[in-house]
Amino acid sequence: MVTFVSYLELYISDAFNYLGGRRGEAEATNVVIGVPFDSTSSFRVGARYAPERIREASQYIETYSYRAGMDFDDVDYYDAGNIATVPNVMTTLTRVERVVAELAHQEKRPIILGGEHTITLGAIKGLIKFHPDLKVIIFDAHFDLRDEYPEGQKISHATVTRRLIDDIGSERVLLVGVRAFSRYELEVANSSDIRYFTSCYLNKSKYDEIIKELKNFISTSKCYISLDLDVIDPSYAPAVQNPEIEGLHPTMVLDILHALCKDEKLVGFDIVEFTPLFDYSGTTSVLAAKIVCEVLTYTFARD
Ligand code: MN
Ligand code: MN
Repeated sequence: MVTFVSYLELYISDAFNYLGGRRGEAEATNVVIGVPFDSTSSFRVGARYAPERIREASQYIETYSYRAGMDFDDVDYYDAGNIATVPNVMTTLTRVERVVAELAHQEKRPIILGGEHTITLGAIKGLIKFHPDLKVIIFDAHFDLRDEYPEGQKISHATVTRRLIDDIGSERVLLVGVRAFSRYELEVANSSDIRYFTSCYLNKSKYDEIIKELKNFISTSKCYISLDLDVIDPSYAPAVQNPEIEGLHPTMVLDILHALCKDEKLVGFDIVEFTPLFDYSGTTSVLAAKIVCEVLTYTFARD
């Protein structure tokens, strides 16, 4: 006899809820899950504390989305709690993969509160079986294209995109807002089919054309969006693990997310690399909570 094991029951622990509720309960399409994990972080640690701080900040923000033309009150979502993480990166990624696969199997959309960027790898592994043509759009200041970081470490926050293109191919990955990388990473990017828009290019452009190109990229497939919060300029998002200047304005990021997240294209989303330990003004947690609130609302918006 085969016994069905629910990874949702096995790996998820209780937590303070996003925007105070479990509305829709387990029936909701959007399922918020936290992944309090930062074992491979190399500069400013603390992303493991982000899920709870994002939930806390979410209690104090206004929830009407003028881009979506609707209120978050009308959005169906369920906060399932946090994945029970362990210091070992492979074990934690396997747990993320299993939970995300279970949600995908139930035709639910995981909305993941990281944690460091590594967790994206587990999420994509869990989704790809159900969406074999999945495209991935990553917002990040960094390419994350190193082969090892530090030396000997194949899976870390600085190798995420590299391991992802090993798994699904470079033609299925597009990066938005990159500006901080080594010469080696630039060579890897330029010798692959990976597409990328630098933040300098975006900051100087009318980005309507770029939104068109991004929508074209996912026109025949579902998409997963990973938002490394360091893509936003550190003047707006100072509390990230690896801040880099010349980032994007939050308005631009929300405009692009709005264009991409509606019309049922989005099958999963994560926000990563926020570290509450450096959030002296408390504004980065508010920014992260607002972005999650907007993304959840956009999934219900239609043209
Ligand atoms: Mn990253
Ligand atoms: Mn980054």
